[in-house]
Amino acid sequence: MTRWSFETRQIHAGASPDPATGARATPIYATSSFVFADAGQAADSFALRDLETHAYTRLSNPTTAVVEERLADLENGIGAVAVASGQAASALAVLNLARAGDHVVSAAALYGGTFNLFAYTLADFGITVDFVTDADDPAAWRAALRPNTKALYGESVSNPSGAVLDVELVAGIAHEAGVPLIVDNTVPTPFLTRPLDHGADLVVHSTTKFLSGHGTGIGGVVVDGGKFDFQASPERWPQLNQPDPSYQGLVFGERFGSLAYLLRLRTKLVRDLGPAVSPFTSFLLLQGIETLSLRMTRHVANARAIAEWLWAQPLVERVHYPGLPGDRWHEAALRYLPDGPGAVLAFELTGGLEAGKRFVDSLSLFSHLANIGDVRSLVIHPASTTHAQLDETQQRAGGVTPGLIRLSAGLEGIGDLLADLERGMEKAHG
Ligand SMILES: *Cc1c(COP(=O)(O)O)cnc(C)c1O
Repeated sequence: MTRWSFETRQIHAGASPDPATGARATPIYATSSFVFADAGQAADSFALRDLETHAYTRLSNPTTAVVEERLADLENGIGAVAVASGQAASALAVLNLARAGDHVVSAAALYGGTFNLFAYTLADFGITVDFVTDADDPAAWRAALRPNTKALYGESVSNPSGAVLDVELVAGIAHEAGVPLIVDNTVPTPFLTRPLDHGADLVVHSTTKFLSGHGTGIGGVVVDGGKFDFQASPERWPQLNQPDPSYQGLVFGERFGSLAYLLRLRTKLVRDLGPAVSPFTSFLLLQGIETLSLRMTRHVANARAIAEWLWAQPLVERVHYPGLPGDRWHEAALRYLPDGPGAVLAFELTGGLEAGKRFVDSLSLFSHLANIGDVRSLVIHPASTTHAQLDETQQRAGGVTPGLIRLSAGLEGIGDLLADLERGMEKAHG
């Protein structure tokens, strides 16, 4: 059978009518726990001999399982684990590979929360992260590698600076070094690009953003491409290749083969650290994913029109949107994101910080808040908010200048959005 199109899979992958009631939409299984058929099934479930039975919603839930199957399908992965937030997804994706004493190399152009996690919180766990400022420079990635490096990390399209990661290049360097590449694909979503198709090994998302699309629920997911061979050098991945005392000496790699990474992430890290997603949030997320292709096409059209309008404004110094010809990442965007690089864009006004603040304060249709990927258009000043914990050098390495303003183009009428921006522009310059 030929595989369904993306548009069909975003609606049907992982879902079928409810076996108990016939409900066509995926029900919200609002239950903490599930009755075992008998003592044998209970024991098999706890010993990971039975992976089908749901036992406890911290570990798995039927509503969330549909999200997991659907996103694995849309990203062309072999499986996925949904978690409580994008932050939990990136943290667990790394913690499943690196332990105290280990090292990670990441592109510097990152979401502010991920930068804080990598620079400070992982350091408290004994994991060091080195940042590559020019992620297009292969020599910079290679120079940062160490014998104890366990992963390379980057954002397919960075938030907020709009840097497009050369996934094939960085995946090649990761594989030479014998480590997987993790890509945060939040900004473009799998409708616009699929990093696993370009050589990445693991994909993480904040499903809070465009995948949900409605700005109502916080969630995240880790998707595994299933191609990275953790058994090729077992000494490098003791977590997956040595007996696990918390499962009576089970060796994840031996028992589960290519699913070992995800099974360990779920049954060790989510089990023990606890960032499980609520089935209510999974339900909201499914409502969003069903219209992803339609929404992303409109998001991109509105973002492109706004970027072009901004570019023509005399009081705008720079526009960062890889969809614009002349942008540093335009060629990379055409190669990796032929249908458009998403709907997050940033720009700098003349007059810097003060003009930027006046601009944000004078918009009325754009909401001033810390999110992207809502049906509503959003605006924020990263230097004083999402990236405020970083010093100016770190901010600049992440592409955040003092006067930078980030927009997330929503789905409203483009004439209304441009009129709001025009009013803001007049007020910003008095
Ligand atoms: C928002 C975001 C995150 C964090 O996700 P939460 O759901 O807010 O925890 C990670 N990466 C990117 C690119 C984001 O935009």
